[in-house]
Amino acid sequence: MKLAIVVGHNARAQGAVRPDTGETEFAWNSRLAKLIEEEARLFPQIEVQTFFREYCGSYRREIATVYEKADDWGADATNELHFNSHSNEAATGTEVLSSGSASSMRYATALQNRMGDALGLKDRGVKIRRSGRGSESLMCGRAPAVLIEPFFGSSPQGQAKTDEEHEQRALARSILQATQDAFL
Ligand SMILES: [Zn+2]
Repeated sequence: MKLAIVVGHNARAQGAVRPDTGETEFAWNSRLAKLIEEEARLFPQIEVQTFFREYCGSYRREIATVYEKADDWGADATNELHFNSHSNEAATGTEVLSSGSASSMRYATALQNRMGDALGLKDRGVKIRRSGRGSESLMCGRAPAVLIEPFFGSSPQGQAKTDEEHEQRALARSILQATQDAFL
């Protein structure tokens, strides 16, 4: 199966910043995408390709373009990488956004379980998002889509669980395991 990883945000507007390392969502998730590609060697049935959103002055067009590229590549599923952020540093946990379609829900649930095992953070659950923030990414492509928020970059707990390479690799692997659970 073909898994398209979409890195959230873009080089020009990079999303939230985690205060412990100063990394943006775009920077942190660009590395996570690389780790997913590396760890995919352990999952020979999953072909991974990473897609980047490109700033073009229109949010709608930016999203439509990247998901069109993923569909043209033949993606069987898409997964857009983010991390959460809140002004209250007590906000913590793992959540996955789904379009609500049966296959998106199956994938989102598998991700919620596997990422929960890998990170051990609070389970904030799968959330269906059909309008508002992130919904365009979930709705505009052909392939079943999810958007992951594995942790809060603003949370000391979230930071502690994701600041070492072995933790990032475990998260990458959990994403591939969930892909296997849902589609193979
Ligand atoms: Zn984001």
